[in-house]
Amino acid sequence: MNDAAIVHDAVRRVKAGELKRPTNCIHVDQLLEIGPNTVGCEDCLRTGDKWVHLRVCLTCGYVGCCNSSPNKHASRHAKEAGHPVVMSMEGGEEWMWCYVDEDFIVPRRR
Ligand SMILES: [Zn+2]
Ligand SMILES: [Zn+2]
Ligand SMILES: [Zn+2]
Repeated sequence: MNDAAIVHDAVRRVKAGELKRPTNCIHVDQLLEIGPNTVGCEDCLRTGDKWVHLRVCLTCGYVGCCNSSPNKHASRHAKEAGHPVVMSMEGGEEWMWCYVDEDFIVPRRR
């Protein structure tokens, strides 16, 4: 699967209740099946900076770098745009993070 297909699949499954979300998180219900806009951090690519890990915004598809990266673009985007949920774009990882509830959305154990 490519990145967009992985994200679509995860969003579909979190809505179907197959991924565990924080008790009060209503934000996942508002997500559309969006795919990543870029293959790297949009803002780091523009400035030539480096990142550690990537997160994709599940509201608009913005790809930003994680909080271990110097620029923390994913968090900045969430705050500035008011978009609540990101998903990890690291291969094989399927967790999401809700900035409003400050909690993870994770696959249920099978
Ligand atoms: Zn939430
Ligand atoms: Zn960045
Ligand atoms: Zn966004």
